[in-house]
Amino acid sequence: MGSTFREDIYDSSRFVITMELVPGEQSKGRSVDTVMSIAEDALSDGRISAVTITDNPGGHPSLSPDVLGKEIVNKGMDVIVHFTCRDQNRVGIESRALQLGHLGIKNVLALTGDFAGEGFAGQGAPVFDLDSVSLLLMLKMMDEGTLSRGDREDFFVGCAFSPFKRTEEESLCQYFKLYKKVGAAARFAITQLGYDARKFHEALCVQRDWGMQVPTLGSVYLLTPNVAKVMSEGKVPGVVVTPRLLEMVQREWKEKSNGHAATIERAARLAVVLKGLGYRGVHFGGIHKGFETLSSVLDRMERIEKRWRDFVPDFDFPQENGFYLYARDPGTGLCSKEMNPRVSKTSPADKAVFQVYRAIHRAFFHHDAPFGSIYSDLCARLDKRPLSYLLVKTVEDVSKKILFSCQECGDCGIQHLAFLCPESQCSKHTRNGPCGGSRNGMCEVHPERRCVWFRAYRRWASVNQRERMTEEYVPPRRWELNRTSSWINFHLGRDHQGEDLFKK
Ligand code: SF4
Repeated sequence: MGSTFREDIYDSSRFVITMELVPGEQSKGRSVDTVMSIAEDALSDGRISAVTITDNPGGHPSLSPDVLGKEIVNKGMDVIVHFTCRDQNRVGIESRALQLGHLGIKNVLALTGDFAGEGFAGQGAPVFDLDSVSLLLMLKMMDEGTLSRGDREDFFVGCAFSPFKRTEEESLCQYFKLYKKVGAAARFAITQLGYDARKFHEALCVQRDWGMQVPTLGSVYLLTPNVAKVMSEGKVPGVVVTPRLLEMVQREWKEKSNGHAATIERAARLAVVLKGLGYRGVHFGGIHKGFETLSSVLDRMERIEKRWRDFVPDFDFPQENGFYLYARDPGTGLCSKEMNPRVSKTSPADKAVFQVYRAIHRAFFHHDAPFGSIYSDLCARLDKRPLSYLLVKTVEDVSKKILFSCQECGDCGIQHLAFLCPESQCSKHTRNGPCGGSRNGMCEVHPERRCVWFRAYRRWASVNQRERMTEEYVPPRRWELNRTSSWINFHLGRDHQGEDLFKK
């Protein structure tokens, strides 16, 4: 193997190029041969630092990225495996991490993952026992040898985020979560896919202004009309292709050779714009048949990179009424230093409800509340008396079912989500910020519902405490407390809040 991805990302003389490979649904045969031959061609080309391999994309079963990754590493090409939280609980996840360590695969892209898709006899169970921030922390602890078992590992773990959200709420939540991920030791980041240079610039400006700089790769896709249509319809979670861009791609492809040339030109232009803006590298997607098209893109980049500023206007595909954190610089069409106002807030009625919940929580569920020690003593006594325990548990269940659609997890996390329930109201049970799949403020999984983080942001914004969403790591729920009283668990220090493992 030549230089590794990790070496390249810290080598300032090198602009890092990675590309995504998608394993097929077969264990051998044509799809595996195609992926292997693309990887081999990329290796001989010499300009690719690593290939990334997706993990059951779309939630459907496909060949394991770990197995394929090992074969590619053996050929001499470095690999980044996608590692999602969808299909395994924390035990399976830790076991998979050990497997990767054993296979010598060091680079991991930690992701929450798309929702569960179809498998044997129907849709698979969506696990989401950990979210991507907890996964990052778990891998970090494995590196440090601070998990209670196992040897020290040597992972190089990155994360993904999306600058391409249309609303203030989703945009800020994405950056808040990135802040947590960088705090949780993400060593690199890869953006979601979009075609808006100002948004790409915004992501770097936020990193600079919030002191969370992390080597970041911008995503570039080799857009063809069919894929552009699917993306434009919102069928690929988190990806943004606007109707105007779709129309342009469809026009270009009226003649196939013209369309092919336009695809190469657009990818090369966006890649050099990203380099000019200060991205550490580019992550290419859409390479399914062979390496040749990407090779042409890389050749073209070399020829045009000095003119990157001329191409910024080619990536002006804003979403309708889209929010930008920074005002537009009229000279460049990118971000100026001036911040745009943040205006989001919740309705007066919802704000009032939120204030009541906060007051109740402060009075009864703070260890340093005035009567905290009295509650703890009382709970210790109730815990020993089955009938009293049952009475408390019933009162808790009934009231919280009505107010929060509580699912009796026994390890309540509503206070971290502005008093919304991550178990009942987020299909991926995210505890540290939204997944990347929301669209126009609506949930990826239930598009008829607001994303729970959108609602939480509005509540915190209404009391001017948006940044609260970056202040703490929220550990995963403790399954051993399922169907027990979260009130008693809290006061007896049994729940995740009695744990300082994840606190900053
Ligand atoms: S509620 Fe938000 S974070 Fe949860 S699955 Fe839906 S879009 Fe993702």
